[in-house]
Amino acid sequence: MTDYGHPLQFGTFLTPAAEDPDRTVRLAETTEEAGLDLATFQDHPYNPDFLDTWTLLSWVAARTSRLRVAGNVLNLPLRPPAMLAQAAASLDRLSSGRFELGLGAGAMWDAIAGMGSERLTPGQAVDSLGEAIDLIRQVWDTDTDAPVRVEGTHHRVAGMHRGPEPAHRIGIHVGAYKPRMLRLVGTKAEGWLPSTGYMQIEDLAPANRTIDEAAHEAGRDPREIRRALNLMGTALTPRKHGFLQGPPEQWVEELLPLVLEQGISTFVLGTDDSRTIHILGEEIAPALREAVERERRSAGTRTGEVRPAAVLAARREGIDYDGLPGPLRARSVEPGDRGYERVRHTYMRRGRPGLVLRPRDADQVVHALGHAREQDVELHVRSGGHGISGTSTNDGGIVLDLSAMNAVEVLDPTTGRVRLGAGARWGRVATELNGHGLALSSGDHGGVGVGGLATTGGVGYLGRSHGLTIDNVTAAEVVTADGRVRRVDAAEDPDLFWALRGAGANVGVLLSVEATAARLGEVVLGQFVYDATDTAGFLRAWGEITESAPREVTAFLTMGPPGGGRGATAQAMVVYAGQDTDAAVRSLEPFLKAGPVLDQRAQIAPYPAVLVPGEGHHQGHGLPISRSGLVPHLDETASQAVADLLNTGDVQLMQLRQVGGAVNDVPADATAYAHRHQNFSLAAMAPPRLVGRMDEHWARVEPYLEGMYLSFDTRTGPGVLEKAFPAPTLERLRRIKHRYDPEGVFNSNFPVPPAA
Ligand SMILES: Cc1cc2nc3c(=O)[nH]c(=O)nc-3n(C[C@H](O)[C@H](O)[C@H](O)COP(=O)(O)OP(=O)(O)OC[C@H]3O[C@@H](n4cnc5c(N)ncnc54)[C@H](O)[C@@H]3O)c2cc1C
Repeated sequence: MTDYGHPLQFGTFLTPAAEDPDRTVRLAETTEEAGLDLATFQDHPYNPDFLDTWTLLSWVAARTSRLRVAGNVLNLPLRPPAMLAQAAASLDRLSSGRFELGLGAGAMWDAIAGMGSERLTPGQAVDSLGEAIDLIRQVWDTDTDAPVRVEGTHHRVAGMHRGPEPAHRIGIHVGAYKPRMLRLVGTKAEGWLPSTGYMQIEDLAPANRTIDEAAHEAGRDPREIRRALNLMGTALTPRKHGFLQGPPEQWVEELLPLVLEQGISTFVLGTDDSRTIHILGEEIAPALREAVERERRSAGTRTGEVRPAAVLAARREGIDYDGLPGPLRARSVEPGDRGYERVRHTYMRRGRPGLVLRPRDADQVVHALGHAREQDVELHVRSGGHGISGTSTNDGGIVLDLSAMNAVEVLDPTTGRVRLGAGARWGRVATELNGHGLALSSGDHGGVGVGGLATTGGVGYLGRSHGLTIDNVTAAEVVTADGRVRRVDAAEDPDLFWALRGAGANVGVLLSVEATAARLGEVVLGQFVYDATDTAGFLRAWGEITESAPREVTAFLTMGPPGGGRGATAQAMVVYAGQDTDAAVRSLEPFLKAGPVLDQRAQIAPYPAVLVPGEGHHQGHGLPISRSGLVPHLDETASQAVADLLNTGDVQLMQLRQVGGAVNDVPADATAYAHRHQNFSLAAMAPPRLVGRMDEHWARVEPYLEGMYLSFDTRTGPGVLEKAFPAPTLERLRRIKHRYDPEGVFNSNFPVPPAA
């Protein structure tokens, strides 16, 4: 008795008849209408009465929306595996993950040789198939960078680029009857696909045993391999005539033991009759599913997805992987899973999380959070993955990744009311809002996520004209530690709403924000490169020019240390948030006097174009140390201190972002970001090995700093908290932390201790 516990699937095995292609395709459509899971076609390219199976699969996939498609089985000798892998991945992407790969070693060698392929012995054909499966998997493995190189006996590939990546984990099903092929299934395949025409029911059990033994020997769990069966020679008749020749109830009765005793979980019916297809989908499949579920419940059969042994071996301690609620399990990524490389790192930090949960909606976030709380590992929340302190990945813990919750909605184009999912990136937000003539203050990088930025501040090019990002936020949806989904604003949970804007990472998982975008399409961008050898003098001039510029202007400065025989350099991005070009030119002119100009240009640009592009997956550039603070004014002594810092040569990169203007119109107690009188945000980065020296240099700048913006600092200890949050802010935050997160569920990013 063997039941591998897979969910049941039903499909059709249709003749790819060339005579009436419309009818062939209609039968596939009928398969979908009847509620069945897949349509499959035999593959005999040498048969002139048949349509080419691959072309037909593509056509059918395009004409259906839910149905999965597969060759039953594709003729490997006539389909070179490198090309097959690419075609399979392409069709899988085109059909949003609805392709499965059925493969056969080949038969009818006269016909195959007739089409120009080599004639193989049965043993060679099995070896060739084994090599092909390995090769196909390599092409699909886009986590690895090196090109595919295979020096096999039957297949040779001398440096093929990997990809495209399939849209889902395509299962390779193999048609097999003889022991060598069955062992190949057990060793390498995800599915076994024999036909009743060639295999007697009583031969299923010994064949399953061969597959299971081979699986064990290969270190696999036999449950990794789905057992499918093509049902041939059947008939729906009012009375019983024989096996699967009778009324639907008889079919259910006869198929049930095949599931429970022979482990079959996919039934593919060989038929070209639409009435039969309907009865299979509408009567037999639901009745059999119900009967199987009942029997499995009473037998306590293990069901659910089986992850390959290689993935299980890479699991980390302290995480109950199997206890994940169903829909989330399907959206989770573990070490060893295909796709892990794409989710493990952040922009800054290379990570090795034990589990990445990628919820799609509020419900799934609640479940993910509930599950994460029960585990004995760290929990880190991620939206865009751009956190400077690298707190959105970890080693062996759980990452709650909101990147799939990335909707950008314009709720009212007239008032500029928008709703942004936490997982949206600011580059796309800017582009989509720009389509409505709107813009929302954000940072300078398009890859930064809404979740991280809108919970800390948002210092960007529209700062002096339109305030920080959080200053434009009017409401938020958040899941708190107790698992409640709350919509908060000035009237509803006002304390939580206050804390979310400046210290959001401490109080919950932000799902989305509502904000008021400004009517702004294009801006004027001035770019300047300066020789800043006289660094203190340059900074002093910079301070005066920027502070006296009109509010439409916000300027960011990036400075490099002296080196290579030249002094310090400075690059400026100056944004005039408006389309009055005369006023913009007048505003930009003073910037020519900040220091010796090495290069300069000005242009009118759509707001999204001023953001640095970049939305791809992260590779972990390496975590520098970063120190940051807010500077009220770049007066003589402050300029000198900042210049001395840069000229130590230990600082790799220094940035001075302008705040002030509209940012400082907001009362200090209106949000948990309380710094409303400073004019510059200073950040300096250095390699981690220089941490001691950097701290000494930084201590000399400290007297000129008042407070800090925590998003630019890699220190997270208590000393930093006091700088990020002035005493009254910190006290209020501690009371709110006590109320909403007393157990410190959200403690991975600048944790605020709860009030006693
Ligand atoms: C290249 C670069 C440029 C930058 N430029 C600017 C800039 O111009 N202006 C500026 O203000 N900042 C800037 N930053 C800093 C950036 O705004 C912050 O690091 C921000 O936190 C990143 O948001 P994220 O969602 O991408 O980060 P993630 O790495 O995903 O998250 C960082 C942390 O934020 C918290 N968090 C993330 N999502 C949520 C959520 N949904 N709910 C609750 N907490 C959450 C978590 O604690 C997480 O560890 C820049 C960073 C980089 C790397």
